Amino acid sequence: MVVINSIEKGIVIDHIKAGNGAKILNYLNIDTAKYSVAFLMNASSNQFGKKDVIKIDKVTDIDLAVLGLINPDCTVNIIEDHVIVKKIKPTLPETVSNVIKCKNPRCVTSVEANAPHIFHLINPETREYQCEYCDDIVSMKGDNLDAILRK
Ligand SMILES: [Zn+2]
Repeated sequence: MVVINSIEKGIVIDHIKAGNGAKILNYLNIDTAKYSVAFLMNASSNQFGKKDVIKIDKVTDIDLAVLGLINPDCTVNIIEDHVIVKKIKPTLPETVSNVIKCKNPRCVTSVEANAPHIFHLINPETREYQCEYCDDIVSMKGDNLDAILRK
């Protein structure tokens, strides 16, 4: 039994679809030398069967935009003085840098290794993003995340 609210101050990202937790950790860019991070894989959940949970100690202001992209159904709990003071539902970011990779072989990002991969949200309903350079469209719907994400 893991008590996820046992931190004094921090962020608990709960109800992450099992398997997505590692991807999210990759993109949150948390300075692990500075902050302590607990990562729980395949925890039992009444609602979802299996879930991942990420707990970040002592920090409440990290950029969570990537959550809306990778796992919009997760829940973010902001903890202060051992209690949840705020619950956040992730939303789709308008612009994402270096998360989605462009698959167009003629795109500048395919040719130049250092070119930033920048995508803009064009349709929230279909969760479609468009490459800034070549106008290729990528849908963040479905389970093909491994093919879409850069790392
Ligand atoms: Zn492109």
